[in-house]
Amino acid sequence: MTKTALITGITGQDGYYLSRLLLSKGYRVVGLIPPERRSSMAKLDELVEKVEFRAVDLTDAQILREVVAELQPDEIYNLAAPSFVPHSWNDPLGTLDLITGTATRLLAAVRQVGLSDRTRFYQASSSEMFGTVAESPQDENTPFRPKNPYAAAKLHAHWTMVHHRERYNLFACSGILYNHESPRRPPSFVTRKITLTAASIKLGYSNILEMGNLDAKRDWGYAGDYVEVMWRMLQADRPEDYVIGTGQLHSVRELVAMAFNCVDLDWQNYVEIDPKFLRSDEHFQLVANPTKARDNLQWQFQTDLSAIIEQMVSKDLQRIQLGQIEPIKTRG
Ligand code: NDP
Repeated sequence: MTKTALITGITGQDGYYLSRLLLSKGYRVVGLIPPERRSSMAKLDELVEKVEFRAVDLTDAQILREVVAELQPDEIYNLAAPSFVPHSWNDPLGTLDLITGTATRLLAAVRQVGLSDRTRFYQASSSEMFGTVAESPQDENTPFRPKNPYAAAKLHAHWTMVHHRERYNLFACSGILYNHESPRRPPSFVTRKITLTAASIKLGYSNILEMGNLDAKRDWGYAGDYVEVMWRMLQADRPEDYVIGTGQLHSVRELVAMAFNCVDLDWQNYVEIDPKFLRSDEHFQLVANPTKARDNLQWQFQTDLSAIIEQMVSKDLQRIQLGQIEPIKTRG
């Protein structure tokens, strides 16, 4: 029997890779898109003809109940979020309502429609929930100390999901994911800013990459690897939460060097340190211990950082040359 998966945030980076994975496994994939975000459907490129959409306001509990009742989903993946963390300071309540509210309304809908025994629920949690880290590396028992509205909202959604699992016996779980990247990462993120600027410099549009702290380190993985583990969590015998990352730290400096290496340029000739880009809330040693996912789900990351960066730079070069995106045009 064909399984049905319902996805919020389907037009984002993970939504694309997850839809592609589920379609390849024969799922019927349905995305819930707020009516005012219909134009984002174009971001699904070749998948737009293969997935279905429902125009749904995620703040409307009644409509969510109706759509869950109509579709009787086997799996729900709740990915919608304003994922660029600094923006959450501009609208903390809106962030809370989208992240926590959508999780709460969807979980309630599953229960109220009578699908507690059928529907499996995935919540997109974040390593940001660890905040000012208390230990390194982090695992499923590390205390949460969120330090921005996005992380607080994610933590509230996470606990709401746990409550539904414990009180109502729902098959619900969280993936506590570390940064993951791909050519679909928006340019507001540092990885994509670097790859897009390296491509722009190579093609003669720019000659500067303005950066903040080059020594900051992150645990960066590949979005295509991480959606696989989301799916595996929902196929497991028991619903459990998992920390998902590579377990490896790389500095921004290394990442810059990798990107410029892809276009045969020496990064040191182009990088300028601008204090305005220094983030005040740098996390140090935010790095995953993904042992539980390896042992229980037989999951391990497949794509290393240099391969991800190579893919991103090559896609940015191609997009600029085809006129699909604007290059960065900074000249010193
Ligand atoms: P993206 O930013 O690429 O996608 C976010 C999705 O949420 C998009 O579909 C976006 O729609 C939608 N969205 C944003 N704001 C609203 C809103 N107000 N109402 C309805 N939908 C909205 O994120 P990713 O795909 O990278 O991440 C997926 C999930 O995983 C998110 O919840 C994120 O917080 C979480 N996560 C991501 C990590 C990462 O490194 N990528 C790390 C840890 C957690 P639109 O396309 O119209 O903008």
